[in-house]
Amino acid sequence: MSYLVLARRYRPKTFKEVVGQSHVVKTLVNALKQGKLSHALLFSGIKGTGKTTVARIVAKALNCKNLQDKYEPCNECLNCLEINKGIYVDVIEIDAASNRGIDQIRDLIENLKYSPAKGKAKVYIIDEVHMLTKEASNALLKSLEEPPSHVYFILATTEPNKLIPTILSRCQRYDFKRLDPTLITKYLADICQRENYEIDLSALEILAKEAQGSIRDALSLLDQAMAYGVKTKEDLISAFGWHEVTLVEELAKTLLERNFKEALKLAQKIYQDGIDLVYLMEKMTEFFRELLVMKTFPQESRFEFQTSALRKLVLESETEEILLIFQILLRDLEILKKSSYPQLQFELTLAKICEFEKLVPLKEVIQKLDTLIQGNFTGILSHNLDQSEVLSPFQDLNIKKDNLTWEGFLEFLKEENSPLYPLASSLPKPEITSEEVSIKIPSKHFFLNSSYVSLIKEKLEKFFNRRLNLEFLEESSKIFIEEVKERAEVKSILKIFSAKISYLQPLKE
Ligand SMILES: [Zn+2]
Repeated sequence: MSYLVLARRYRPKTFKEVVGQSHVVKTLVNALKQGKLSHALLFSGIKGTGKTTVARIVAKALNCKNLQDKYEPCNECLNCLEINKGIYVDVIEIDAASNRGIDQIRDLIENLKYSPAKGKAKVYIIDEVHMLTKEASNALLKSLEEPPSHVYFILATTEPNKLIPTILSRCQRYDFKRLDPTLITKYLADICQRENYEIDLSALEILAKEAQGSIRDALSLLDQAMAYGVKTKEDLISAFGWHEVTLVEELAKTLLERNFKEALKLAQKIYQDGIDLVYLMEKMTEFFRELLVMKTFPQESRFEFQTSALRKLVLESETEEILLIFQILLRDLEILKKSSYPQLQFELTLAKICEFEKLVPLKEVIQKLDTLIQGNFTGILSHNLDQSEVLSPFQDLNIKKDNLTWEGFLEFLKEENSPLYPLASSLPKPEITSEEVSIKIPSKHFFLNSSYVSLIKEKLEKFFNRRLNLEFLEESSKIFIEEVKERAEVKSILKIFSAKISYLQPLKE
């Protein structure tokens, strides 16, 4: 007897046997029990999640001569047996991927009017229905609108977004979900037991993860693993060449530790082993995404690490940290795909991640801010906050008229704890005449891009009771970058946040 693949052998024959998709099954069963099943159903979802399988069970439920509990097919009557074998005349399966045209649909419509030859219902299962041509879709639509009472349509698709909206609106839609890896693992373990095949749970976990939510893919991977005689995780890794699984964790560890030397060593080994870098980076990105989920929902996560050292490291790492690495990987993955120098690009990504200083936990930053806001740094730190929050309505200026100097003005701003102080103190000393305060300012000075310009002007004119005259100087902005770096408040901000200046950018409105 030829070998029947697991996916075929263990194909569910009843609603009860369907793995996952309980939301779909429950609704269908209720409708069947009440005799209120819609005549046009749409099953959508990724491949291998049971759409066609459930469609056949529905077809059996509609034709079974010995229905159990008003919904479950018996799988023993002639109708059930013939549907299981795919030879029942009134269940017509059409693969729209290969029969896309109007002629096939016309034939189908032509036959709708005839009563079922054997059972109660004619069931048309149209797989990959989004592949039909526009003409064929429109022809089908007419039949969907008012099908004869003995006709049921079950449309299945992996891409519901490609269907014409009128078809979508005619059908009752059921979304088949990607299956959870934990559920798949459990199912695989169950199959192995029934097959009397011994295999470690950790190997099944890797298979389940690789299947990415498709039960059919999981079973086909298990078929292969059994053919190789895989018993352990190590067997699996070497049989399938999945060294990436362990490599991903090793790399993740070096990245979380910001150990560029080790990361580079690994990268070179990976290159020599001829591992596909795009695939590896995809796995890395997925891995960090899972870490992120794990950090966010620690109770729900059943993430299994190969090494306990990494688990500890992840627990100690900040969520922001993992998010940052995830972001860089995701962005660089796209670049890597297009790069003519994948090895260099890959190393560059690792370098980029290791170059980032360890992030200071947000809680710590907030604590520091709280302390500082009560201190003298209000002006500096609130510089970028919303003006309306920072600036109280223009207070009456309490000015000592004998101190009408630039220093006096700055002193006044400082005493007022005004956010304008740091900005004003960056300005060159003005010339003060009896009519105006004249500031010669380089045309690229960041002050000019600041939203505070008008406020400074207002305050300054009120203080000096003179007009402000700004004169622009064409000058290189370089001096100012140097100047910015040297300024005391910049230095203190760098210290507070354990930061460094990577680049300067003029303020934008
Ligand atoms: Zn039956």
